[in-house]
Amino acid sequence: MQIKHILREKGREVIGILGDATLSEAARLLARRRIGALVVRDAQGGLAGILSERDVVRAVAEESVAALARPVSAYMTRDVATCGETDSIDDLMEMMTQGRFRHVPVLDRDERLVGIVSIGDVVKSRIAETVREAATLREYISASG
Ligand code: AMP
Repeated sequence: MQIKHILREKGREVIGILGDATLSEAARLLARRRIGALVVRDAQGGLAGILSERDVVRAVAEESVAALARPVSAYMTRDVATCGETDSIDDLMEMMTQGRFRHVPVLDRDERLVGIVSIGDVVKSRIAETVREAATLREYISASG
């Protein structure tokens, strides 16, 4: 199974924010859209970083409410690990486990953002695959018995 199979199920919307938006605006967007991370875009629409709910929690823990008025760019991770649509879901799981992050933006061949995959999407796809395999095995067993 490849990343494109997940995108086919969940769609290709990528919810983003600009680096000069405030952390408070980012927190509101995360809550309103019920997501765990935002892709941070530069003025040209390119990928400037990623900001997850963990970054918001860390910022508030370290700087209290003052952090909320500061820009997203002060707290985002700039060195973003990405994947391609034809990468395998197994490789993506490995990347998330090694890097200890739960969100990975998907880029096409021209380095354009075409989606984002979360650990929740990966788990959902894995469960669906396991259920399909079990059904196939059951059919096989009942046909051969
Ligand atoms: P997460 O587990 O995705 O909530 O993120 C945990 C930490 O990893 C946060 O500091 C994020 O900014 C960072 N992070 C999330 N996704 C990525 C990614 N794809 N590449 C690099 N860092 C990331």
